[in-house]
Amino acid sequence: MARVRLLLLIYLWSDTLQFDDLGLDRRLLSLIAHRGFEQPTDIQRQAIPVVMAGKDLLASSKTGSGKTLAFLLPAMQRVLRSKPLSRRDPRVLILAPTRELAKQVYGQLRMLTSGTTHKAALVLGGENFNEQAKVFRQYPTFVVATPGRLADHLKQRNVSLSGLEMLILDEADRMLDLGFKEQLDSVNDHADHRLRQTLMFSATLDHQQVTEIAAGMLKSPKRIAVGEAERLHSDIEQHFVLCDHLDHKQALLEHLMNVNVHKQVMIFTATR
Ligand code: AMP
Repeated sequence: MARVRLLLLIYLWSDTLQFDDLGLDRRLLSLIAHRGFEQPTDIQRQAIPVVMAGKDLLASSKTGSGKTLAFLLPAMQRVLRSKPLSRRDPRVLILAPTRELAKQVYGQLRMLTSGTTHKAALVLGGENFNEQAKVFRQYPTFVVATPGRLADHLKQRNVSLSGLEMLILDEADRMLDLGFKEQLDSVNDHADHRLRQTLMFSATLDHQQVTEIAAGMLKSPKRIAVGEAERLHSDIEQHFVLCDHLDHKQALLEHLMNVNVHKQVMIFTATR
């Protein structure tokens, strides 16, 4: 009985952890307060202590859950509190599947690095390759990149990952769905040393390729699942509309837009 009570207490306590309880550097705490964030989100409560303890992490959580700060805060903590393995190589590399997501991560990272001596670089596909090569020569502490472009820079030896301390894969499932397995393997091989900590975030952990790549890249990871990424929102009704060909799809879409008067419509597409 006493044990059950103790477990309940620990559970309730972990549920009410505040930013101040996480052991974060006071510079980070003041940035968080400045942004007006009063409480850590679930994923931040669960992931930050694991990452600060130096463990590898395999986490599922949705965009909007606060997952970006769940990895950026402990990454910044490590950079602020420990000596680099190398003065030249990036210490933290964050890979994201799309330019848009990489830009969002970079935006939150800049909030943390501003006012420090640590540089952050954004390396995206579709941008000037030579300019990016120059950015690597300024020895950024953090690199946020899309996998294809980073793999190209590795091939050209524009950057070395021998001193990388943290490899973070954001939306790993999407990177794999987009066919980036080979590029992820290449990054893994270039940063292959025992001191590296690896964090993998994915909308779902129930994804065969995620399981496979996690087995190859993570060392005894702690698994965290926050919310069920695939659970449907109760206010949203979903319809699946079959169509025969592209023209039919276009006609159906126009029809759907005309039969109801919508104030706002969002359309998601598979490719750019
Ligand atoms: P993300 O899931 O990382 O894309 O975060 C979604 C949004 O939540 C971002 O705009 C963050 O700035 C914001 N956010 C992150 N952590 C917190 C927090 N603890 N409290 C309130 N908002 C937050």
